[in-house]
Amino acid sequence: MSQSRNETLVCPRCGRQGTFTVWDSINADQDPDLKEKLLDETLFLWRCPHCGHQSYITFGTLYHDMERQFMLFFDHKDGDNDIAEDSFPIDEMFKQGDKHYKFRYVHGIRCLKEKIFIFEEGLSDIAIELIKYFIRRQVIKIKGTRPDYFDNKGIFFTERRHEEDNDELVFTVTRAEKVVSEFSVSMDLYEQCLQKMWLDERFAEHGTVKNVCYEWIDAKMKS
Ligand SMILES: [Zn+2]
Repeated sequence: MSQSRNETLVCPRCGRQGTFTVWDSINADQDPDLKEKLLDETLFLWRCPHCGHQSYITFGTLYHDMERQFMLFFDHKDGDNDIAEDSFPIDEMFKQGDKHYKFRYVHGIRCLKEKIFIFEEGLSDIAIELIKYFIRRQVIKIKGTRPDYFDNKGIFFTERRHEEDNDELVFTVTRAEKVVSEFSVSMDLYEQCLQKMWLDERFAEHGTVKNVCYEWIDAKMKS
């Protein structure tokens, strides 16, 4: 069940008070409407009941998809990803569930959406991050792009495009919240990354909460 609480906010425009609902947890199966609001970010919009002024209110939440078996501990703050911390043990209460459950720390709303898209397609986020890792390194060789091409840019998985003979995975390159380019890779590359992940003990799940991001992969590759 999704859990919420009400907070009293003071409107920055008219100075009067109103109530805002903060969702501490979201159950995607039971409350698909909440999931949609999370994805289009209207969940974080507060409209002053007196003057109609709209504010963007950020809050962390626990996102739970029971059907696809994943839990995301979401922190709205971007930029915490330089914490390339390894996994944390999972609380006993979570361990009782199915072994296939995935637990992730996620920082920033774009990363949260990406994780949802990845897991909803039944893909591995570690394999996806490996693709990004190799792309970041390869793009320099392929396009003769400057080594700093990806500095201050983020790569995000957006969709699995179903083609007739072979599916493609689509990624966007963003800078300062704006999409600056897009590229796709074949499922063959994904399968290769998946194989690498399975064969590499550094990427084992071990029933722990992980902060799977570029910095995490980078730290693993260097370890
Ligand atoms: Zn107001």
